[in-house]
Amino acid sequence: MTIKRITVYGVRLPLKRPFKIAYDSYEYIDSLVVSIESTQGDIGWGEAVVDQHVSGETWQSARSIITQELAPLLIGKPADQISAFHQTAEARIRHNPSAKAALDIALHDLLARQCQLPLYALLGGRCHARLELPCVISMLSPDEMAHQASEACRQGHRSIKIKLGDMPDADVERIARVREALSPGVALRVDANQGWSAKQALHVIRGSESYAVDWYEQPVFIENLDALARITRATDAVIMADEPIHGLRDMLSVIHLNAADMVNIKLMKSAGLHAARAMAEVGMAANIPCQIGSMVESSIATLAGAHLAIAHPNIIANDLVGPVMISSDVAEMPGDATHIALDDAPGIGIKVDLDRVRELSIFEDRID
Ligand SMILES: [Mg+2]
Repeated sequence: MTIKRITVYGVRLPLKRPFKIAYDSYEYIDSLVVSIESTQGDIGWGEAVVDQHVSGETWQSARSIITQELAPLLIGKPADQISAFHQTAEARIRHNPSAKAALDIALHDLLARQCQLPLYALLGGRCHARLELPCVISMLSPDEMAHQASEACRQGHRSIKIKLGDMPDADVERIARVREALSPGVALRVDANQGWSAKQALHVIRGSESYAVDWYEQPVFIENLDALARITRATDAVIMADEPIHGLRDMLSVIHLNAADMVNIKLMKSAGLHAARAMAEVGMAANIPCQIGSMVESSIATLAGAHLAIAHPNIIANDLVGPVMISSDVAEMPGDATHIALDDAPGIGIKVDLDRVRELSIFEDRID
């Protein structure tokens, strides 16, 4: 069975409410939904959602890399050669991880559908009973964040992730107010999205010692792994690396420098599932638990992340909350706002609504 056609849909996903983090704010999310069709008529679905502050890709640059550089490598090739795809893709062009992720996810979905297995079965089988979702709260006023946190508890969330990273003292107040608003036993995690200096990070960590924060995600600038390592050495708090850690080499740097206690793996940074799984494995060997994060993706990339998350013992958390945040998705997401319920359907288990994809599309490219 070979690959006959690849289609790229430029989809604009509306958000339920604006999403604000330290380095940007979003009214909607631009996504590239990709389908790979085999000569037998099977279809695998993939997706790229870029973050230009993280990988340097834009919506249009990723579109161009997929349609001009990567998709032509696959046409006429066997549909089950994922490792070979990554080898030729790397040889063709460096970086561009989200563009590569879209095709990697679609290839995994297609392969698992052909095998008549849910993708997690190919990734090692189910090893977590349930995928709980945190509630992710934008960086807003302490009052508003506390209000949303107590709402999230009422909805049944057992973990809350709050976005911080502007003014250290205001951030300590946000942590305090959110913690006071949470029901007993609800986990609290913070993500500064690079917003602090190393000293500001230590100031916030010390100022929030009594509020039981599970971990502090990416306190400092993406380019400064040394500063991340200094913070990790200087505190007993758990530090999670995110934006600087893309693929396996970055994972090795974290280990070599003792730069973080945990790593947030995202398919859009790792070029898809192939390297993401290897990162989780290497992390396990080095005693670095991992989270599967996301770039606010539709149900396609979200489900791909969920299959890896449920299959790997070293993935202990996720923030696969894209479908909860967008108001019009390209498929039904199994579960609700508090958890993802993976079933045993083949592939990533998605039934994409093509009419909806086209309604939300700004452009459509076909490569065959
Ligand atoms: Mg993060």
